[in-house]
This record gives sequence, structure tokens and C-alpha cells, in this order.
Amino acid sequence: MKKLTIKTHSQNEFIDITHDVRSYISQAGVSSGLCTVFVPHTTAGVTVNENADPNVRKDILKYLSSLIPRKADFSHSEGNSDSHIKSSVIGCEKTFIIEEGQILLGTWQGIYFCEFDGPRTRTLFIKVTGA
Ligand code: ZN
Repeated sequence: MKKLTIKTHSQNEFIDITHDVRSYISQAGVSSGLCTVFVPHTTAGVTVNENADPNVRKDILKYLSSLIPRKADFSHSEGNSDSHIKSSVIGCEKTFIIEEGQILLGTWQGIYFCEFDGPRTRTLFIKVTGA
């Protein structure tokens, strides 16, 4: 298993981790199997989306924030309920297929660590299983 440490710089941010995932898969030497990426945080997540136009990521973050505002009639005393909700909406785990030693991602797909309560230092786990 690989443990990644990620330093985030904004309250809401997508960080491209595609290269880290690919490089761990190649290190693991598995030719056919599965790769799980897991984020052990309640105010962060992981998603797959377009890797070409950075405005797509910007639009996702902007739209999420318009749907889930920072301040609303929340009960959680820490004041970051929006971050918790975004984390649940996006999710904290993705599974990928590995064939011939390669992750099966579409040409325009990238894997993104999603920060919703930064800046912070975060952890992410990558586990590869297979033969
Ligand atoms: Zn909280």
C-alpha cells in the first residue's frame, strides 16, 4: 500500500494525483487487477474528471459552493458543515481497473484529490491488488 501526503493551498481545490496513482501501479508490478484510492478524511474526497480544460474543475468547485454554501442553517459547531457535505457528495473512494499494467482511464480523465476545508496537510491511500 502507498500512503501519499498532500499539501493543499485553498479552502476548495482539486489536486491532480493521476501521475502518483499511475506511478504506484507501475511500481506495484501488477498486470491485471484493481487499484483503490481512498481518502481518510471527512472534509475531502476523490473524483475523476476532465484533465484538459482546468475550467471544468473550476466550474465544479464553483457550482458545488453555490449549491452548498459555507454559511447556512447548520448545527455542526465546527462551522464547516459545507465541507462535510461536499465530501459526502463527491465520495472518499474510487476503484480503477488495471490491464496490461496500465490503469484504464479515458483519454480526458484525470484523478483528483478534492480539498473542501483547506489549506491542510492530507493523507491518501492507494492499494493495488491482482496478479
Ligand atoms: Zn467539522
